[in-house]
Amino acid sequence: EEKAAKEAAASGAASTSGPTIFEKIISKDIPATIVYEDDTSLAFRDINPQAPVHFLVIPKQRGRLTQLSKGNEQDEQLVGHLMMIASKVAKQEGLDQGFRVVINDGPQGCQSVYHLHLHVLGGRQLTWPPG
Ligand code: C5P
Repeated sequence: EEKAAKEAAASGAASTSGPTIFEKIISKDIPATIVYEDDTSLAFRDINPQAPVHFLVIPKQRGRLTQLSKGNEQDEQLVGHLMMIASKVAKQEGLDQGFRVVINDGPQGCQSVYHLHLHVLGGRQLTWPPG
């Protein structure tokens, strides 16, 4: 049912305006297990983990970037920073045998939360290709 709900949301029902659930995590109105935080980014454990280690890395600025495909040159530094934080926290989490970084973009990418986020998955042998 989880998967069906996610795919239904991805098919167009997902809200693309208003504060997202991640903005409520940033403002600490909704609890999350935070594994890293700095001035511009936040990393927290995914509530529905798909691997032994599964965390998300997000920019803290509200409404800055809903999805990767909406980015422009002004977002280059931010996106690069998020990528480096993904790697840094992966190391912190002990993922020395490897890990995967995923960005779901738009309906066909199965994006359900329209606030840019990098998924970092690891702690088991991952398979390829993803579904
Ligand atoms: O890439 P996509 O938009 O589908 O991913 C959203 C992710 O946010 C999901 O993996 C979901 O489990 C996670 N989530 C979360 N905490 C929430 C709501 C969603 O970790 N409160």
